[in-house]
Amino acid sequence: MTKIAIVGAGITGLTSAYFIKKQYPNVDVTIYEAKDVPGGKIKTAYRDGYVIELGPESYLGRKTIMTDVAKDIGIADEDIVTNQTGQSYIYANDRLYPIPGGAILGVPTDIKPFMTTQLISMKGKLRALKDLTLKPIDMPEGDMSVGHFFRERLGDELLENLIEPLLSGIYGTNIDELSLMSTFPNFKALEEEHGSIIKGMQQVRKARLQKEDYNQSDAQGQFKQFRRGLYDFIVHLEAWLKKHDVTIRYNTKVEDLKSTQKGYHVVLADGSEQFFDGVIVATPHQVFRQWFKTDPVFDYFSKLEASSVATIVFAFDDKNIENVHNGTGFVIARTSNTDITACTWTSMKWPHTTPEGKVLIRAYIGKQGDNIVNEQTDENLVKIARRDLEQMMTFKGEPEFTIVNKMPFASPQYHVGHIDEIKRIQQHVYDNYQHLQITGAPFEAVGLPDCISQAHKAVENLMTRIL
Ligand SMILES: Cc1cc2nc3c(=O)[nH]c(=O)nc-3n(C[C@H](O)[C@H](O)[C@H](O)COP(=O)(O)OP(=O)(O)OC[C@H]3O[C@@H](n4cnc5c(N)ncnc54)[C@H](O)[C@@H]3O)c2cc1C
Repeated sequence: MTKIAIVGAGITGLTSAYFIKKQYPNVDVTIYEAKDVPGGKIKTAYRDGYVIELGPESYLGRKTIMTDVAKDIGIADEDIVTNQTGQSYIYANDRLYPIPGGAILGVPTDIKPFMTTQLISMKGKLRALKDLTLKPIDMPEGDMSVGHFFRERLGDELLENLIEPLLSGIYGTNIDELSLMSTFPNFKALEEEHGSIIKGMQQVRKARLQKEDYNQSDAQGQFKQFRRGLYDFIVHLEAWLKKHDVTIRYNTKVEDLKSTQKGYHVVLADGSEQFFDGVIVATPHQVFRQWFKTDPVFDYFSKLEASSVATIVFAFDDKNIENVHNGTGFVIARTSNTDITACTWTSMKWPHTTPEGKVLIRAYIGKQGDNIVNEQTDENLVKIARRDLEQMMTFKGEPEFTIVNKMPFASPQYHVGHIDEIKRIQQHVYDNYQHLQITGAPFEAVGLPDCISQAHKAVENLMTRIL
């Protein structure tokens, strides 16, 4: 019987096992996980009637692969929830400004609300509108930074006050180093197709609005979650895998992989080894790069940095907090001096997470260049987040509880050139490592549905070559 090992029981590793079993039910699959629980970065806390995400918060619903898997592993339709839409804000120059209506990922598509926002000066607005007449930007190296692209098209002010706070938070990295082609290649495609990013995004908006006419539920919001939190997806997936005879070995750290002509020996901490015909590695890159030290093609992973982030959760009785801003949250521009980078008013965005009469807030700390997450204690991080949040709302009493979740070196930073490096490494693995696939967040994209798509691709690449 063909035997496959998967290293790492995050969403990438677990869904790799799922795709193997869907297509090849007779293949023997073992997952090795260093911790005592599955899920990797996905962590949901259940406390006093709250459902609290401590890692990722939701996923992009239009990437339907996650919803498809969720339904297949037994999550009921009514337990897949969509976010409530509402006003979101930018904290810039020490003030909260509503994000102008019609802006998609910061790109204005509706000129009237853009021209009336106080977030951008008239000079900044006129500079942004130059986009309508500029030629597509040359990209001789096949990539450029997100900062470079938007500074040239829309100007520095729009980039720094609107686009950067929205986009760089996703990757926790400097926008002037973030790779455009690894993160938002559609922006370049739209610019080339329409001769302007504003016109391109106007077409995207038009298409979305037309679709919403047909499908009212989409008008609610573009993110999805589960009534019992993202961890419910992991619970269902683990149960599905066990039912399909997948072995999951928790508290079992893989120390090394030894290759042979026919497959790999998985080496564990106690020195024991087990042979497999194929291996899928789905750990963070800081782990697997140790196993391929002798192959210079993997050197890229020694250079690939990762930023540390923490979520700080505050649960309040609503009499103890006053928030005059009615909305779903805010992100912070570089013109405001805070340690937090963003905040979600979770009880507004995801009402199912919070009991009646309570308020749930999630703040995020950790940006490129600061080491605050690794240097400060949990207690201090709560104090720092509270100090910053008090600039935007009034705390009239103490929170019922707070939770801090530190994620050291958790967000791989896709700098300019990333996607070419990844393509080169993937081709090299395909050509030279017949029995191996390596995949997950350090590769093509970090989003949860993207991790699932990558797992699907890794399974196809591996199984078609070893069976
Ligand atoms: C703060 C934060 C917020 C995010 N928010 C969102 C969001 O809202 N929406 C979204 O779509 N995405 C979000 N992401 C991205 C997304 O959460 C991750 O990209 C995704 O969870 C990565 O999954 P993975 O399975 O590839 O890796 P991981 O979740 O890191 O799993 C890897 C697993 O490998 C295990 N492991 C490590 N070493 C070994 C070893 N030697 N032997 C055995 N096992 C090992 C680990 O314990 C872990 O369980 C966020 C990421 C972060 C950091």
